[in-house]
Amino acid sequence: MPASSQPARGTVLVADDDPVMRLLMLEMLAQVGLDAIEAQDGIEAVALAQSKKPDLVLMDVDMPRMDGFAACGAIRKAERDGACVPIVMVTGSDDIEAVTHAYEVGATDFVSKPINWPILGHRVLYVLRASDAIARLRIADAQNRAVLEAIPDTFFRLDADGFYLDYEPGQDRPASGPGPGCPTVHAAAPSGASQFIGKHISDVLPSEIATRMLEQMKAVLATQQVRSVEYELLDCGEVQHYEARLVATGASQVLGLVRDISERKRAEEQIRRLAYCDSLTGIPNRQAFLETLERELQRARIGNKKFAVLFMDLDAFKRINDTLGHNAGDQLLKMVSERLRETTRPSDLVSRGDGPADAGGASNLARLGGDEFTILIPDLERVEHALNVATRVKEAMRRSFLIEGNEIFVTASIGISLFPEDGDDCGSLLKFADTAMYHAKNCGKNNAKLYSSSLTMQIMSHVKLEVGLRKALQNDELYLVYQPQRDVRTSEIVGVEALVRWRHPERGLVPPTEFIPLAEETGLIVPIGEWVLRTACRQARAWQRLTRRTLRVAVNLSAKQFKDENLSQIVLSALHDTGLEPRLLELELTEGTLMDDARATLATLEQLRGIGVHLSIDDFGTGYSSMNYLKRFDVRALKIDRSFISGLPQDSENAAITRAIIAMAHGLKMVVVAEGVETGEQLLMLEEYGCDMVQGYYLGHPSSAEAITEMLRNAQLALPAK
Ligand code: C2E
Ligand code: MG
Ligand code: MG
Repeated sequence: MPASSQPARGTVLVADDDPVMRLLMLEMLAQVGLDAIEAQDGIEAVALAQSKKPDLVLMDVDMPRMDGFAACGAIRKAERDGACVPIVMVTGSDDIEAVTHAYEVGATDFVSKPINWPILGHRVLYVLRASDAIARLRIADAQNRAVLEAIPDTFFRLDADGFYLDYEPGQDRPASGPGPGCPTVHAAAPSGASQFIGKHISDVLPSEIATRMLEQMKAVLATQQVRSVEYELLDCGEVQHYEARLVATGASQVLGLVRDISERKRAEEQIRRLAYCDSLTGIPNRQAFLETLERELQRARIGNKKFAVLFMDLDAFKRINDTLGHNAGDQLLKMVSERLRETTRPSDLVSRGDGPADAGGASNLARLGGDEFTILIPDLERVEHALNVATRVKEAMRRSFLIEGNEIFVTASIGISLFPEDGDDCGSLLKFADTAMYHAKNCGKNNAKLYSSSLTMQIMSHVKLEVGLRKALQNDELYLVYQPQRDVRTSEIVGVEALVRWRHPERGLVPPTEFIPLAEETGLIVPIGEWVLRTACRQARAWQRLTRRTLRVAVNLSAKQFKDENLSQIVLSALHDTGLEPRLLELELTEGTLMDDARATLATLEQLRGIGVHLSIDDFGTGYSSMNYLKRFDVRALKIDRSFISGLPQDSENAAITRAIIAMAHGLKMVVVAEGVETGEQLLMLEEYGCDMVQGYYLGHPSSAEAITEMLRNAQLALPAK
């Protein structure tokens, strides 16, 4: 019975066969605000425990019909849904056996006789509170367990020193093999939970991962903020990726949640592959290459290493696209990348293949776009190694490609830049390799060139020169000199070769070997050539008037001029405007110019022949040297290149070649001119071989028109040419 009118703090079932004891107990419980119900024996106690659901049972051990132990066991047995009423057993004094037995049957606590009445009520209150807390804990625990079971993560708790306090494998732990976060020990035992408890993390995880985990754990404990660690483990030979999220649970414990993120990693990898792979060829793309390059740069800086960047461009890709179509072009690019892949296998390039650029297999190879490919050569010990790779690449390209039944031949131009010599950032290295590639193309394609800073200077001065050349014509900076051509037998001047000169306002005299190629490249050769032609024709006409003799003037024609569809028109108008007879004009062409496109050449030659001008082949012997071809082209004269003459008379090989050329040319009814005659001995030898005409410093340097006029006047012997 409650002693006050306050709401009861709970109801206690008092089971004792002794009514006095019951009365005393009721009294004491009422003192602390507890209600009570009474049972006289075990059977009654079990029934009341079920029907009245008391908050606590105070149970005497010795009772008739059913003793306290049996009643306690029966109450426990009947309990449902995790309910667990606290049962306090009242035992005899010092009855250790009884106490032990009481716990065995499910008792919560005990009081022993003689009972300390004043504190009984407080003791009961305390047990009630504690069991209330336990009940709440049990509910929370059940809830936690349900949550744990519902989510796939593996859980563990570590103390501040890195020892496992507990471990709960997650739902997605593979049935065989090591579970997340527990490779070494798990592999050996089927159920991994308990075996980790008490172990140190470094006994469970590989030391590198354990170290990282411990570092992060310290940070988590210090900051009380969540951190995560990603790591990889080998599971049945397959790499699995895991993420451990670490959360502080107090000042000295860390809860770890480990999740298998392999799927996510694979998806990321797939996306990365797509982003880093060239869709046409399957090799890495520009982005991938730039990242590989950046990594290599860092590595090389730290390790004090060298590397090379090769930039390759196909020489005639546009032509293939234009003539065979884009499908064929695409096929060619695929085949080219395949050959490059074979040629630049990582083992050939001393590669390590780390990082994302592995996407296409060969991490050091990439297609930047179009027909441009790049190759990174790491760990370069000698520059020659880069040149060797370039040679191998060129060789690989030289074998024909079979595309849609066509046998296609391509060549490649390659530029090479070196770290650290040429630049120390990716952008510069790539740009310089590209610059070197252009240089290689300018040097006649199918070439490999190293970049050097002098090349930049060269290119810059090239650009400056080009600007100057554009102005040269209008500023009257160009002028002609003429070199006499003499008849071998009579020594008479029978013709002159017009040679252009450029007096640059700052640089002085620029040699034609420097500015003619530039003029060809820029197309400026067409207006310059026209000016040369007109000036030479005007001068030849002037000499004719002045000396009353005919003198043939030879003018050099570059390939670009020869291909210009207005050529015959230009020649006609120069002759017409100056009044020079066509037979007194000779156009000098090189073999290369004639051979380039035989059909178009024949048509152009036909037109020139129609006008009545003569043709000669300049620098003969340095090109194709095909006499048969020349026969078809109806050429009047052959000019033997000065490289054959310079060795005479000692060089017996060149002597033999010279003699053979003269004999064959005569067989085809061609006149032979020897260029670069510098000595009397050379002249004698050429005379002996039957050479018709000679030109060279020995017989007259290229000179001004006035000087030639003087020569002609003095000799008074300007005769018609043969
Ligand atoms: P090329 O047509 O073979 O001209 C002969 C070159 O040999 C000239 O060089 C001449 O000065 C040089 N030479 C003559 N005799 C000797 C000698 O005994 N020894 C040596 N070592 N050299 C000798 P140049 O004037 O420097 O011209 C070089 C080339 O530039 C010419 O070679 C020609 O291909 C080109 N060129 C010159 N003027 C013109 C032009 O008006 N139009 C075009 N398209 N090309 C030109
Ligand atoms: Mg010439
Ligand atoms: Mg020549």
